[in-house]
Order: sequence, then structure tokens, then C-alpha cells
Amino acid sequence: AADAAMYQAKASGRNQFRFYNDELNQMMTRKMLIENELRLAIENNELILYYQPKVDVATRRVIGMEALLRWNNSKLGFVSPVEFIPVAEDTGLIVAIGEWVLKTAVRQNKDWQDHGLPGLCISVNVSVNQFRNSDFIKTVKETLNEIKLSPEYLELEITESIMQNIDESVELLKELRLMGVKVAIDDFGTGYSSLHILKELPIDTIKIDKTFIDDISINADRSIVKSIIDMGINLNLQVVAEGIEHEHQLQAITKYNCTYGQGYLFLKPVTANEFEHYVKSTR
Ligand code: C2E
Ligand code: MG
Ligand code: MG
Ligand code: MG
Repeated sequence: AADAAMYQAKASGRNQFRFYNDELNQMMTRKMLIENELRLAIENNELILYYQPKVDVATRRVIGMEALLRWNNSKLGFVSPVEFIPVAEDTGLIVAIGEWVLKTAVRQNKDWQDHGLPGLCISVNVSVNQFRNSDFIKTVKETLNEIKLSPEYLELEITESIMQNIDESVELLKELRLMGVKVAIDDFGTGYSSLHILKELPIDTIKIDKTFIDDISINADRSIVKSIIDMGINLNLQVVAEGIEHEHQLQAITKYNCTYGQGYLFLKPVTANEFEHYVKSTR
């Protein structure tokens, strides 16, 4: 009986092991497939930028837009940036993809300005590994020169994870600001920044993470949002609330003097054409 029990334990242990192995295999296979397909995504024209307006909450006027990357692959279908951006970061592909995003967004903004749209600031997401790449500053400078977009119409969104290398990051941020480019801290409140470091950072904007806006009717989250907005105002920063879906959320952030917002309540991310129509229809 003892032998039988022992045998069973071993067998189920083995099954357990095999189960994890299968799951791991599946995850690895998908990750490898994403990696392989992502390598060709640029040359196969599978990447496209969508645009989401950033609005002045008092007037609902569009004051800028965020460029958001979309990938439609023949084998994988639509893959979310939440899934493929980390793969791009791990494999170094983020440098080429990030450069494509920057160029495409800057060119699109310049095109809009040349075709009579009001001057709007375009926000581009930048991953940590892209930001730290030694050529990043040069790439930004060359892109703006080449396309002839005035630097104040470009904002770079980075996350709090850059704080891990605070001294190096501050130097890079200073160079960008000298160039005239704007800088935003994205997903604010979810990461590392302590308030005293924030004071030292040469930035223009903080974007309050959507999770706080989701739960704004809960007391604790409401106080967090209120404190972030107050702090932003005191530091002379532009404060943007991300992920506004409901009227009551808009009312709450307006009451706390947050000036800018982004979210499905206004418009979800859309193609360049749809974005252009939206801007024209709201002016
Ligand atoms: P993020 O930069 O914080 O972008 C905001 C995300 O929230 C976007 O998701 C946007 O579609 C979504 N969103 C905006 N308003 C609402 C709303 O009212 N409700 C809900 N449920 N969602 C809303 P998306 O486009 O899937 O992008 C996810 C993340 O992927 C981005 O978060 C950003 O971190 C990353 N990402 C996207 N494009 C790029 C890119 O070009 N480069 C890099 N490095 N990262 C990117
Ligand atoms: Mg962003
Ligand atoms: Mg965000
Ligand atoms: Mg995010």
C-alpha cells in the first residue's frame, strides 16, 4: 500500500511537472512567434498608429493627441501593445520600432499642420530601453530636423521606471527640454517616483494612471487623485487624467481642478483620418 501511495505521488508529481512544462512551452512558443513576426513587422507594413485626443476638460477642445501603436499580423491577428511591447523591449527590437513610431507620429503631425489643422502637440510613448539607448537623443533631434516639425509640438511619454537610474535620466531629460521637446510622466502613481524626486525632474506633464480614475468614487482613490492634481499644480505641471470613461469621473477631476483629460468618454484611439474629422467637428 505504501508503495502504491508512493507510486501515485510520484506519478501525480510528474503530471504536475508536465502540466507546468506544457504551459511554459505554450508561453514560450507564443513569445517566440511574436518575436519572429515582430522582426518583420516594419518591412511588412503591419504597424499602424492610432491617435487619441487629449482634451481641455472645461471646453472639451482637443489640445493634443497620443499616438498609440497597433499591430495586425497575418499569423497572430491583432496583438495588443501590452503584449508585444515587452517582447520588443526584451529583444532590443524596441529601438527600431520606437524609431518608426517617432518618425510616423512626427510626420503625421507635420502633415496635419501643413493641411490647416491647428497646431497640436503629439505625445509619443517611449520605453525605458529606448530612452536609455545611446542614440535616442540624436534620433529625436534628426527626426525633428528632417521633418521640420517645431519641437514644442512633440511630447515624449516615459514612465516612472526611469527613476531607477535617476542621475542619468535627469541628464537625458535636460537635453530633451533644451531641444524644446516636452516630457510627460505616464501612468503616474503606479511606479517609483517619490514626491521629492519629482520636484527635481525636468518635466512638463504628469498623466494620472487610469486605475485611479477607474475607482475615483472610492474615498482612498479620490484622495490620491486630488493630491496628485494639487501637487502637479504646485509644481507648475500640466496634469492629465487618463482613462475617463464616465461623466461622473469627468465631474470629479474637474472639481479637483484637473485641466486635461483623455478617455473613451471623449474618443477612443482612432485612425489618422478619423482623428482629423473629430478635430474638425469639435472646432
Ligand atoms: P499608455 O501609454 O498608458 O496608453 C493608454 C492606454 O489606455 C491605451 O491602451 C489606450 O487605448 C487606453 N485607453 C485610453 N482611454 C481609455 C479609456 O477610457 N478606457 C480604457 N479601458 N482604456 C483607455 P493601448 O493603446 O492598448 O496601449 C497600452 C500601452 O502600450 C500604452 O499605455 C503604452 O504603455 C504601450 N504603448 C502603446 N503604443 C506604444 C508605442 O508606440 N511605444 C511604446 N513604447 N509603448 C506603447
Ligand atoms: Mg502613454
Ligand atoms: Mg498611461
Ligand atoms: Mg500604460
